[in-house]
Amino acid sequence: MRNIYDFTLKELENYFVSIGDKKFRATQIYDFLYKRRIDDVSFMNNIGKNMQEHLRTHFSFQKIKLIVKQSDKDVSKYLFELMDGQRIESVLMYHDYGISICVSSQVGCNMGCRFCESGRLKKVRNLEAYEIVQQILLIEEEIGKRITHVVVMGIGEPFDNYDNVMRFVKIINDGKGIGLGSRHITISTCGLIPGIEKFMEEDGQVNLAISLHAPNDEIRKKIMPIAQVYDMDSLLLVLKKYIHRTNRRVTIEYIMLDSVNDSIECALELASKLKNLNCYVNLIPYNETKNIGYKRTKINQIRKFYDILKKKNINVTIRKEFGGKVDAACGQLRANQELNK
Ligand code: SAH
Repeated sequence: MRNIYDFTLKELENYFVSIGDKKFRATQIYDFLYKRRIDDVSFMNNIGKNMQEHLRTHFSFQKIKLIVKQSDKDVSKYLFELMDGQRIESVLMYHDYGISICVSSQVGCNMGCRFCESGRLKKVRNLEAYEIVQQILLIEEEIGKRITHVVVMGIGEPFDNYDNVMRFVKIINDGKGIGLGSRHITISTCGLIPGIEKFMEEDGQVNLAISLHAPNDEIRKKIMPIAQVYDMDSLLLVLKKYIHRTNRRVTIEYIMLDSVNDSIECALELASKLKNLNCYVNLIPYNETKNIGYKRTKINQIRKFYDILKKKNINVTIRKEFGGKVDAACGQLRANQELNK
């Protein structure tokens, strides 16, 4: 039985029409699930008894389970257990502009970035759209507030699970449901070019972030195996195409790793590579993890790096730090739970 949270509104409408019921049924259900947050069919009081029974026998209303929450000031980390016992995590962050959540898109990840915890636990499977949607619902229920921004930057490579991630976006974006504006949704990829090409043809204003993390292929290949498949020139070329096609600015993520990618030369090279690209660079102080040897660049060096980019007219910010104490680096909570088991 397919989970009810896996359906776009359109699909539900088609379903009800196909069984000879009214299209409007879909809107009613979306209203209960996403506006009133009622998932018990017995309480869907404007739906007749027969249809209630139909819903119970044709759809699953099951939810994933919240099993651990760790909080520290403006960040909370959640560990969820899925129906098959697999575990995923999400991170909640309070900003001055709103509340954001970072959702996972896969159980584990196959991209194998050397600095990343998630890559140490290989991909087990893709998440279904409903499993991503429910991360939002459960966290909103837990905090009693609405989330304003969503980033697909948790465990997994979203473009390695393209269709389910796009389905997730459609579901949470729908005004009849959660209604999260597409400009408030960001998908982050390590640079899967076929995914970027598909993504630029989608409707909507969903943001794209690229985990670049290096100014050239030589360094990038050392830390990101995917660079062996898609080189940097091709990546930058497809980003140009994307920007031209969508008129949207791209975010470039750049983790600052001590003595790996943080030299003055690196900054100059990065600036020259990004010169004509409508982008903004987010310098990310690396979240050290006890299982991996990389060290975070010292803040003075991050500032120097920042200054060079600024001087070269590149839009750049240094990411506010979250979650040092709560294992908030990508994949840490799950990794520590799994590997210490
Ligand atoms: N696969 C996608 C999304 C998941 S990773 C991607 O690569 O973009 C989300 C972001 O967190 C990436 O930029 C990743 O490089 C970064 N990240 C991973 N481990 C980190 C750590 N320990 N500290 C800081 N950022 C990290």
